[in-house]
Amino acid sequence: MIDLRHIVQAVRASALSAWARLRRVLPRGLGGSPPPRYRVERAGEVPDAPEVGTLYVVGEGAHEWYAVLRCPCGCGEALVMSLLADARPRWRVLVDDDGAPSLSPSVHRVVGCRSHFFLRSGRIDWCGPDRDVA
Ligand SMILES: [Zn+2]
Repeated sequence: MIDLRHIVQAVRASALSAWARLRRVLPRGLGGSPPPRYRVERAGEVPDAPEVGTLYVVGEGAHEWYAVLRCPCGCGEALVMSLLADARPRWRVLVDDDGAPSLSPSVHRVVGCRSHFFLRSGRIDWCGPDRDVA
């Protein structure tokens, strides 16, 4: 016969700590807080599956080739913008002191979801009358 009391206590203890963990993260997710800001990650090559909320700057040393991010509309496309000086079109990445990236000019997809947005100080700024939701 197994003594269930230890198991019950163990389960209760872990349930309590899970609840404590949940309560620590809940307030940030509730109450209409703004979506998390983008951050920059340096990469040696274009990532296969870029994460939402990350602007990848692909390059080597001081040479920056591409900026990559997952389309913020939710369509899942990986968007690759050239940072090469002689490329047309060509984008620039600026990074604030706190690490929040801006991308200029705007990103306008001419295929697929046709998203048009700015990335400014780590936040997506939608353009156009057909895009008022992030
Ligand atoms: Zn999209």
